[in-house]
Amino acid sequence: MAAVLTPEILADPVALTRALVDIESVSGDEQEITDAVEAALLAAGRLSVSRLGNVVCARTDLGRPSRVILAGHLDTVPIADNLPATIAGDLMYGCGTSDMKSGSAIALHLAATVAEPAFDVTYLFYDCEEVESERNGLFKVSQQQPDWLDGSFAILLEPTHGLVEAGCQGTMRVIVRTHGTRAHAARSWHGHNAIHDAGEVLRRLSAYQARQVTIDGCAYREGLNAVRIAGGVASNVIPDRCEIEVNFRFAPDRGEADALAHLREVFQGYELEVTDSAPGALPGLDRPAARQFLDVVGEAPVAKLGWTDVSRFAAMGIPALNFGPGDPNFAHKRDEHVEIPKIRAGAETLRRWLTTPAD
Ligand SMILES: [Zn+2]
Repeated sequence: MAAVLTPEILADPVALTRALVDIESVSGDEQEITDAVEAALLAAGRLSVSRLGNVVCARTDLGRPSRVILAGHLDTVPIADNLPATIAGDLMYGCGTSDMKSGSAIALHLAATVAEPAFDVTYLFYDCEEVESERNGLFKVSQQQPDWLDGSFAILLEPTHGLVEAGCQGTMRVIVRTHGTRAHAARSWHGHNAIHDAGEVLRRLSAYQARQVTIDGCAYREGLNAVRIAGGVASNVIPDRCEIEVNFRFAPDRGEADALAHLREVFQGYELEVTDSAPGALPGLDRPAARQFLDVVGEAPVAKLGWTDVSRFAAMGIPALNFGPGDPNFAHKRDEHVEIPKIRAGAETLRRWLTTPAD
């Protein structure tokens, strides 16, 4: 039987978290949970609800001067004998409790219960966040329904343990390649050893001084690291090739092109191939809706160091931040859990922000 999110459940973000956790929704298998969320949004009666695959978008249309977006994914990583949810004291255990059904539950709870927000609000619930980018529901929306992402500011309710994590760093992976000449190890002077040439690449990496950049009060700490190295043909052959895989995490004041230009400079004289790249996102905390949100939270924001879907919003010119009740340290773990008071506090903070008259 399909799960039903009753008005009583929707009125309580903790009960709603539990109900969402108990609908199993590993990436690719979100039909049932999306149906339940869509039905709850339609039942609210005052939202225009649209659907694209297993993405649901619900919008208020109150003619407010600005529109904000609250977004959360509905999928989880594969379960690990941790369903249904269990409660022990102040903790709720289960797959998705932290990442991020507690956050999506808050958004759905607000969609169902805040009748007169001070902003127009778009609530977005999407699928396939935990798998490759092409399947990501938010990515599909950006390609097929970009108007759903219209807004002046977005909050993603990914786990931050109740902190405001602004912007995010970009990430780039490159292969730095050295070339030599093969020869028999017994007559090595006929060859040129590509593995030895990797020494200079590694020396540049260990001497590298990573930047720390402060933007809107958030400190972003960059990192440039070798993460893998491969080379060698056989134990009696001078190798003609060595590959060093390098991971660059860059602050959001650099674009991808800048980041690549910087890597070309660092590894000047070496062949360089980009294997993966994703831009960062500026914190955008100077926007009025963002400032009002920070006033309500009353705590200084911190920089998001990992890569999250906020950069999809940033790529469309919408500043976005992460704010969710889950503890990111327990995401994807067998003992994944969320602190129940953080769910209530997060729901209250967002409710106060949404209902405080805009200045
Ligand atoms: Zn997540």
